[in-house]
Amino acid sequence: MTGIVIKSTGSWYLVRSLQGGQLYKCRLRGKFKNKGLKVSNPLAVGDEVTMELEGGEHQAVITEIKPRRNYIIRKSTHKAHHAHIVASNLDVAYLVVTLVSPRTSFGFIDRFLVTAEAYQIPATLLFNKIDLYDEEALAYMNQVMGLYERIGYPCLPLSAQTGEGLPEVQKLLTGKTSLFTGHSGVGKSTLVNALVPDLAIKTQEISSFSDKGVHTTTFAEMFEVEPGTYLIDTPGIKELGVVEMKKEEIGHYFPEMRALLNKCRFNNCIHINEPGCAVQEAVKKGKIALPRYESYLSLLQDEDSHR
Ligand code: GDP
Ligand code: ZN
Repeated sequence: MTGIVIKSTGSWYLVRSLQGGQLYKCRLRGKFKNKGLKVSNPLAVGDEVTMELEGGEHQAVITEIKPRRNYIIRKSTHKAHHAHIVASNLDVAYLVVTLVSPRTSFGFIDRFLVTAEAYQIPATLLFNKIDLYDEEALAYMNQVMGLYERIGYPCLPLSAQTGEGLPEVQKLLTGKTSLFTGHSGVGKSTLVNALVPDLAIKTQEISSFSDKGVHTTTFAEMFEVEPGTYLIDTPGIKELGVVEMKKEEIGHYFPEMRALLNKCRFNNCIHINEPGCAVQEAVKKGKIALPRYESYLSLLQDEDSHR
């Protein structure tokens, strides 16, 4: 029997069977090691597993993990060398942003996009709260959306409150595993509630598997919008460790720079003040947007301070 992990705790996993859709509370058989990955949890939501039924009616043992297409890791904020896998096998990562109350900065958006590129997960931007935008804010939104769409990131305007734009988002989700993240206050919870029908009932069904009175760490939870359509809600992305990058690599995670990389005179060019730099040339000509280049410089500086 195969299934998808929809909840991962420190000690057990909730797995939705891919044959029949039943939920099973599972433990792992034997020791699982993530080869080459220093993480504290062997399994994460989104993992596809093989399992065998065990004694109890809704109990099974996980015997195998299928290879992951991709995954996201979060570093612990309090323990220097601890990290865990948040989720795996993601089709799209969505960042919910707003241009008013509060305004999401370019720096924050670009950091998310670089992280998604590094994890090889396609990213999409959702501009929420459009019901609050005046004409000026709408014009600004169209400008920002144009900027990101030209680079290749789809953008959608919506209002989680009025429901405008929701059908378009729903259409994108169908049949996929999607990660939702965003600054607190942008309306991510409101949106997730609007997208997942019967969220409260589903949450209750999942929590009915928890051992009462036993403290377990929940790493992340995955919701089923409908069979085959999954949504993962994660808090801030600040800790989503921007994968450790060499300075020369950061440009690879900006698609508009990536396209120019072998055009620079020096192959280890980091596009600051080198002569014959195709990236600086493109910034001067307006072919690379200045805010994007500024985000790039700020990421370079971060890497500096890590050394
Ligand atoms: P989260 O921190 O990102 O999960 O944000 P919440 O979903 O808790 O929303 C923060 C606040 O923004 C709440 O007061 C929501 O009612 C409000 N909000 C969320 N979406 C919208 C929207 O589309 N339009 C407006 N006007 N308010 C919204
Ligand atoms: Zn260069």
